[in-house]
Amino acid sequence: MNVKINYQKELEKTLKEIEKQGTIPKLFLHSCCAPCSSYVLEYLSQFFQITVFYYNPNIYPAEEYNYRVKEQQKLISELKTKYPVNFIEGVYDTDNFYAMAKGMENIPEGGERCFKCYEMRLRETADYALKNGFDYFTTTLTISPYKNAEKMNEIGKKIAEEKGIKYLYSDFKKKNGYRRSIELSEIYGLYRQDYCGCVFSKTETEKRRGEKNEA
Ligand code: SF4
Repeated sequence: MNVKINYQKELEKTLKEIEKQGTIPKLFLHSCCAPCSSYVLEYLSQFFQITVFYYNPNIYPAEEYNYRVKEQQKLISELKTKYPVNFIEGVYDTDNFYAMAKGMENIPEGGERCFKCYEMRLRETADYALKNGFDYFTTTLTISPYKNAEKMNEIGKKIAEEKGIKYLYSDFKKKNGYRRSIELSEIYGLYRQDYCGCVFSKTETEKRRGEKNEA
């Protein structure tokens, strides 16, 4: 029987350990967007020196991508955190995303294409973190109720073991994390997009909206 791991509890264990050691480790935090990162930054910046990594070549179109980057930077400059938060933008290498998604264009959101999309972004995050001397890497993505936190953590663990860098487990939607991210988005006036990011999720959302309007 498969026992479900509570990844929030795993995170809490690590945070306790860090507090005991009295260190402030360097965390390289992949972020998908400002709203999702808001709660994560509020929470984790009490324990880490954080650098936000904005690597999301999945986002379509380019105007949407640029807007999400600006919102991310705005949040970092306005959010009050115990330790300062830095920002690095990755390469907007959309060819990489489309090559990865090839043959999986019609899989509905939440399926195999998404797992590969998590992996693509986590791999890039781990590579940069390793090259630049970070202690941990992780992603904000588990805050979304639409994302598979179990899969995300399995992928993070696999990459961490392969590369020899620590992955910070998470299930940020737990402990009202998702609700808090909505509150913070309102407080900071953040743009909350209505589709995950890629052209396939955009089309899926528009189709759903059209069907609702027709009903
Ligand atoms: S729906 Fe979201 S997670 Fe899935 S492939 Fe598209 S951008 Fe990536």
